Amino acid sequence: MKQEIQFVPRTELKAKPDQTSLGFGKYYCDYMFSMDYNVENGWHDPKIVPYEPFMMEPAAMVFHYGQAIFEGLKAYKTGDGTIQLFRPEKNMKRLNDSCDRLCIPQIDEEFLLEAIKQLVIVEKDWIPQGEGTSLYIRPFIFSTEPYLGVRPSHQYKLLVILSPSGAYYGDQLSPVRIYVEEQYVRAVIGGVGHVKTAGNYAASMKAQEIAEENGYAQILWLDAKENKYVEEVGSMNIFFKINGEVITPQLNGSILPGVTRDSVIQLLQHWNVPVRETRISIEEIFAAHERGELEEVFGAGTAAVISPVGELTWNSDSIVINEKHIGEVSQRLYDAITGIQLGTLEDPFGWTL
Ligand code: PMP
Repeated sequence: MKQEIQFVPRTELKAKPDQTSLGFGKYYCDYMFSMDYNVENGWHDPKIVPYEPFMMEPAAMVFHYGQAIFEGLKAYKTGDGTIQLFRPEKNMKRLNDSCDRLCIPQIDEEFLLEAIKQLVIVEKDWIPQGEGTSLYIRPFIFSTEPYLGVRPSHQYKLLVILSPSGAYYGDQLSPVRIYVEEQYVRAVIGGVGHVKTAGNYAASMKAQEIAEENGYAQILWLDAKENKYVEEVGSMNIFFKINGEVITPQLNGSILPGVTRDSVIQLLQHWNVPVRETRISIEEIFAAHERGELEEVFGAGTAAVISPVGELTWNSDSIVINEKHIGEVSQRLYDAITGIQLGTLEDPFGWTL
């Protein structure tokens, strides 16, 4: 499938946003990557084209049966102006895992990564350089065939759009309040929680909305079967430091295997900090706090990298972990990962390219 990527220039470039108030996902670069799939030609017509609205059939299957998947990764500009991607091959692999689960034809991972690199180079002037900033890369695939019968679509579109981004939560290292959700669930075993389908996020919004109304930043999701075991926090993986050991829920089929999660585990192992993937009940977490052993809680994901949890509310019980300050290991992980991403620290794992 090694195809030539066509370039379609735009007549006028957009004004670039103020780098100090980028926020997350508000601005889009001048160009996007586009590729189509049909049964006759497979994935074809790869091109870098102006970012602009496009036409879709109202009967396009994505609007009805939701075959839509996506990825999220970032490009960084180092001090000397070099552009770096962080473990992008893992996102390509996960995109194909998402394709597989939703009966979307597989993409050529190497080719897509090459296309993303080309797109990022075209848009290099959009990559911000301040602390906590990056160019967010959003590849996504959706079904386009106009047909109302329920079956996998025979036509798809893949797009990659770019968005210059600042820190995800504003002051991203301030600990946040989290609500342990007991009524709604994010994902079930055998379902689609282990991949990045748009529907997962649609299904999560109700609980998130209620939590926000009650003053919480995010939801802590429990397992769908017993409402007992910790799964994820918002759209991040979760870690707990208890009595010197860092633990995280083991991948069980309903948890998304995060790239940041994997990086955190590898870094901790590299530093000889005890780390374990295991099944963790919310009861154990509250008991550890009761014993005075719950030292740190943090979320890990591409958007915020490391996001400290300051308070957990479960039923009517609230525990405060690090109310004002990020924990020591959380800070060390944040510094190490962002340092590798920004090229200020050595990359012993070969994560950047
Ligand atoms: N869980 C969910 C549900 C997510 O959406 C994300 C973000 N992709 C993560 C975890 C973290 O994954 P990553 O570290 O690959 O961004």
